[in-house]
Amino acid sequence: MKRTSTASEKRHLASVAALGCILCSHAYGNHEVPAEVHHVRVNHGWGRSSHLMTIGLCPEHHRGNSGVHNHGREQFEAIHGFSEIELLAVVQAKLGIE
Ligand SMILES: [Zn+2]
Ligand SMILES: [Zn+2]
Repeated sequence: MKRTSTASEKRHLASVAALGCILCSHAYGNHEVPAEVHHVRVNHGWGRSSHLMTIGLCPEHHRGNSGVHNHGREQFEAIHGFSEIELLAVVQAKLGIE
């Protein structure tokens, strides 16, 4: 199901992208690597993934050879040492979101 983004969602997505690739910076110490927005799927039973459940990943870590879409979340965590959920927490802390 697709819906249009509100202005506040767009602002949030822009701030997420502006952090750069969160895996590059958090796991590898490479800051401000240009990132694409990735939606983290969280199955808590309280709804579909929201715009707040997004992290920035560089093209490589998003859909490249070591990327989350190429491997799936378990393999991604095994390769990089951080899960999508941990990275999401890092992003939200940086943006001041609980
Ligand atoms: Zn990266
Ligand atoms: Zn993605």
